[in-house]
Amino acid sequence: MGKEETCCQCTTGCDTLHCACIKAGRSCTQACGCVACDNPLNKVHVDQVSGCAIYNIEKYKHLSKQELEACHLLPCGCESQILRNLIGSYQCSQCEKIYHYSFCFNEVIEEGSNWNCEFCGSC
Ligand SMILES: [Zn+2]
Ligand SMILES: [Zn+2]
Ligand SMILES: [Zn+2]
Ligand SMILES: [Zn+2]
Ligand SMILES: [Zn+2]
Repeated sequence: MGKEETCCQCTTGCDTLHCACIKAGRSCTQACGCVACDNPLNKVHVDQVSGCAIYNIEKYKHLSKQELEACHLLPCGCESQILRNLIGSYQCSQCEKIYHYSFCFNEVIEEGSNWNCEFCGSC
């Protein structure tokens, strides 16, 4: 991506927005000086996670496997998808609208609609 790498020096496990890496929406790398790293983004493909999920990393982290496998009907009504696939952008295979799950509103929302979430700024 060509941008300067963000790295952090956390001693508390990189699991809150105090971590520079999480704040930047990145996983930790070997360049980080963090201790006992528990950055939840290490386990996900950051490109595939919405800004909302990163802002709500605490909620995201605590999702159970069951919740991740639960089906959510897309607002267009074309299909249902499991939450796991809605953490990042998901394009409806029928109408090609793009959605992600909003942790701020606890529902699937269309991307690029005029919602302007005062919390995460991405939903
Ligand atoms: Zn950190
Ligand atoms: Zn880091
Ligand atoms: Zn870390
Ligand atoms: Zn949000
Ligand atoms: Zn659709």
